[in-house]
Amino acid sequence: MARIVVIEDDPAIGGRLVATLRVLGHDSQWCPDGASALAVTERRPAADLFLVDLGLPDIDGFDLCRRLRERAPDAVLVVLTARTGEMDVIQALECGADDYLTKPFRLAELQARVTAHLRRAAPHTNGSAPHLRVGALVIDRSARRCTAPAGEVELRPREFDLLVRLAVRPGQAVSREDLMSDVWDENWFGPTKTLDVHVAALRRKLGDQVRITTLRQFGYRLEDPTGPRP
Ligand code: CA
Repeated sequence: MARIVVIEDDPAIGGRLVATLRVLGHDSQWCPDGASALAVTERRPAADLFLVDLGLPDIDGFDLCRRLRERAPDAVLVVLTARTGEMDVIQALECGADDYLTKPFRLAELQARVTAHLRRAAPHTNGSAPHLRVGALVIDRSARRCTAPAGEVELRPREFDLLVRLAVRPGQAVSREDLMSDVWDENWFGPTKTLDVHVAALRRKLGDQVRITTLRQFGYRLEDPTGPRP
């Protein structure tokens, strides 16, 4: 069972989507606008999947995608759009969407896509798989052990937590604020130099096993070894 948030201003469509997803066994919730969807992201954990209608009354759909992606980096984002222009699709993907469906779509197609995305996302979402793999590195969350081909890598507790936070979705940027609040303290607003010190330690200890890219004035990204090379 996944937690799915349907963001759609048309109550008829929203209600039908929520009902369909419930039949599939998912815990689905309807949000009629962008503001209520962003309120959902205040919850921890927020949701496994967001279905986002691009045409909303209060927030531009692309902007909403960007903000959802920032606030719920581990969630799957599927865009629903009546706009069939290729530029819209490209823009949606650039704003963090994982997939899109053009209206009108068949519910069977929606079901198939949602199921496929959740299956693929499952090893990455918190609480499902105890092991995360990044390249040849295996991170065992329950045992709090990180193993490289040459053997176990000794990590301090915060270093381990930071590595896990970056590794749940390799290839995705994580802001300094999110890293500080998720790894250190929920209400952190002090200096974040300690974050850079821990990233430096991870780079030193893990060597060539992982590549952590610094995103100036934003945060960090653990590169996906299976993804496209920059
Ligand atoms: Ca709409």
